[in-house]
Amino acid sequence: MYRNFKIVPNIIFGRGSFNQLGDILKAKRPAGESTMVFVLDRVFTGTALESRLPLEKGDLLIHVNVDEEPTTNYVDELVAKVRASTSRLPDGIIGIGGGSTMDLAKAISLLLTNPGSATEYQGWDLIKYPAVYHAAVPTLAGTGAEISRTTVLTGPDKKLGINSDFTLFDQILLDPELLAGVPKEQWFYTGMDCYIHDVESLNGTFLNEFSRAYGEKSIELCRQVFLEDHPDKDDKLMMASYFGGMSIAYSQVGACHALSYGLAFVLGTHHGIGCCIAFDYLEDIYPEGVREFREMMAKHDIKLPRNITRDLDEQAMETMTSVALNLAPLWENCLGKDWQSIMTRQRVRELYNRM
Ligand code: NAD
Ligand code: ZN
Repeated sequence: MYRNFKIVPNIIFGRGSFNQLGDILKAKRPAGESTMVFVLDRVFTGTALESRLPLEKGDLLIHVNVDEEPTTNYVDELVAKVRASTSRLPDGIIGIGGGSTMDLAKAISLLLTNPGSATEYQGWDLIKYPAVYHAAVPTLAGTGAEISRTTVLTGPDKKLGINSDFTLFDQILLDPELLAGVPKEQWFYTGMDCYIHDVESLNGTFLNEFSRAYGEKSIELCRQVFLEDHPDKDDKLMMASYFGGMSIAYSQVGACHALSYGLAFVLGTHHGIGCCIAFDYLEDIYPEGVREFREMMAKHDIKLPRNITRDLDEQAMETMTSVALNLAPLWENCLGKDWQSIMTRQRVRELYNRM
């Protein structure tokens, strides 16, 4: 069976396109009263970007804290806050920030129309009702969260996305100018998330011509961004992120992502850096990719944290191993149907021991 997947219907790309956000939202505002909820990464508090938000009377601006990656608790809290602030269902939720902020915006829009806690919807196609209109403005590039059908959340007992067609944004606005000023390490780690999406997709057993087409273009753009010098590298990285996301939409990620989920769950390691840490130990699986990744690290003088699992006890190591091994589709994409005999518990433990 081939998947019949939905993609984001409206996309605007270009330097300065952020200035058009007001007009885009105007079309979504009903006559009379309207309420848009702007979910803004609090790193932008008091900045020029914040002052450019097309806020109107009745709108709500929420500054979100993404020091920790989104949790189901935080989503529930934010949904309660939106409900308490307005008696009507908002006309739109606009996420402005990196992958974490975009995921929060997706989750809020879903939970406003689907009853209960975010924990009840972690999984595949558990969402019953369409979300409130939601749009994204990425300020970091790499995760592909802008075009994916998931919002990745850490719950009390698992890190798992709310995967559904309703999760997809209705609109994305890609303005490369918004990447200016991202600290180098963060730029690199989030950008490498994209590079690793491409490597895992292009080397996976689920690969088809659709995924290959997007993955090859994305990895080519990543090479231009991270191994060459281009004045328009932010434009390139934004498109790489989008294409990388499109590539995995019809294939899957692999070993590196499975391992990074374990690190995130037990140690709270953020996605981009966690993928970089894990990828550096996967030369047996992705020899070419890891070699090129190290070249990129050297060019940008990136030093990865080491020995991060050193102080973990037996139970924590076992939990980490279980979290990684539970991601069966990722392993199957990476190693084929017979993956369990190749990636044994012991081998995962050894990989984690080395990190
Ligand atoms: P992020 O959103 O977690 O942000 C990382 C840091 O960069 C934060 O401190 C943030 O405040 C800061 N930041 C954001 N934009 C900035 C800017 N323009 N200038 C300066 N600082 C800025 O980082 P990310 O790597 O984009 O996203 C990672 C998150 O995305 C994780 O929570 C991960 O689970 C999620 N993710 C989601 C998907 C998906 O398909 N939904 C895919 C991959 C990752
Ligand atoms: Zn990723």
